Amino acid sequence: MDYSGNTMSDAFNALKERLADFTHLNQAESVLSWDQETYMPEGAVVDRGEQLATLGKFAHELFVAPKTGRLLRDAAKEDVVAQNPDSDEAAIVRVTLRDYKKERKIPVAFVTELERTRAQSHQAWIEARKASDFKHFEPWLVKMVDFARRYADLQGYKEHPYDALLDSYEPEMRTSLVRKTFAELRAGQVPLVRAISEKAGTNSDALLHGHFPREKQIEFAKHVSQQFGYDYNHGRMDFAAHPFETSFSARDVRITTRLYEDFFNPMLFGTLHETGHALYEQGVSNAFAHTPLEHGVSLGIHESQSRMWENLVGRSHEFWEHFYPELQVIFPAQFGHVALNDFYRAINFVSPSFIRVEADEVTYNMHIMVRFELELELIEGKLKVHDLPEAWNARYREYLGITPPNDAIGVLQDTHWGIGLIGYFATYTLGNLASVQLFEQAQVDIPGLRDHIRAGNFAPLLQWLRMHIHQYGRKYTPDELMVKATGKSLSAQPYLTYLKQKYSQIYGL
Ligand code: MG
Repeated sequence: MDYSGNTMSDAFNALKERLADFTHLNQAESVLSWDQETYMPEGAVVDRGEQLATLGKFAHELFVAPKTGRLLRDAAKEDVVAQNPDSDEAAIVRVTLRDYKKERKIPVAFVTELERTRAQSHQAWIEARKASDFKHFEPWLVKMVDFARRYADLQGYKEHPYDALLDSYEPEMRTSLVRKTFAELRAGQVPLVRAISEKAGTNSDALLHGHFPREKQIEFAKHVSQQFGYDYNHGRMDFAAHPFETSFSARDVRITTRLYEDFFNPMLFGTLHETGHALYEQGVSNAFAHTPLEHGVSLGIHESQSRMWENLVGRSHEFWEHFYPELQVIFPAQFGHVALNDFYRAINFVSPSFIRVEADEVTYNMHIMVRFELELELIEGKLKVHDLPEAWNARYREYLGITPPNDAIGVLQDTHWGIGLIGYFATYTLGNLASVQLFEQAQVDIPGLRDHIRAGNFAPLLQWLRMHIHQYGRKYTPDELMVKATGKSLSAQPYLTYLKQKYSQIYGL
């Protein structure tokens, strides 16, 4: 099949043919992974691991082969690329060459060793968490930190070894910038969390706990995601233990969610979150089809999309002015006699808690800061893995005013470190910050945006995001995207202002 336009050069066409093969192997891997998380019988886990390993090996070999490098360099010399540095064609060569150089720096032996150790480490983490026994996981985490340091050395970095780790998730992001931004955020958020905690008794989320029949929850969540613009002709919703979004191409973008009949929040807000991710992937330009650029550019920008639809839209008063009457019809016994404002306060209930994934909008970033700071100290060698639980608990006391009673709901709660994902957590908070900065700009560019939301009209916001973020896929770096869309690099200030305004009003601060 020919994936290129007929005006393209031979070199560029040859490159696109190869990238299509590589991309299709990756997409097939993603389908198998999606199946593993949704429908695969448990007994197939070993076979599935081998199938994924084979596909992964073929994809890697194809990509790092010298021929790929030759095709990239030949294509870079073609007029269509060399003379139009801002074209989609030039972006395909530039971004893929960057990937290629990074991949080539990591020896296959390193990858194989990491994969094998990672599987054992993940198993040790599961056992350690079950028994709340950090000692059982400690030797494996020592190995994972060592892998991360070795990876940084292989990859190289300008300022700090942690830059090389961040770069895997947030291209071109610097540790120094995250440090500075988080310091700004911490200075504003710690007092806010404290002030809200003092008023904790004035709010509760009790009315969201009760009985919410499964079919009705699905009906409502699906309805809202469709209203947002998620295209079910090119997507679908299934259930998984840990909700996620995955895209095989922009024409097949799937979400998963989870549901509890005794708690209203996880199904609805989880679905809105994953819908935000899905809208991003469905909006990538066709120019990047069958290439590695047909995806969101970074975890942070991705999370800005999910958090925007989940929180800035889905937890806003305007949104519920539109949807609350519908919700009351679906759940008459639960919400028929609950006033809109009481419902709004309940879904925006703030309470410092131990578990990151259950955290509210205000305290969430504090969980991330703890992890970022500890990762940095581990990589710098200032903190020994052995002393990690104590350092974790001290930070929770300082930032959230609470001390985890055991390691299972403390330092052992997340799966990330066990599988070697170090440098990843910061992107959750970068995404929160970007979500507000982008939304503020959308409000400037779209007159009456909040009125549109109040009327259940989400098309203007989606169009804005399509134009400024989605269509570009991986064409621009996260910083280039933020500057193009908002005129500024990422900053903590818009987010802090938003939090203070929203929660001062809710909590009467
Ligand atoms: Mg997410």
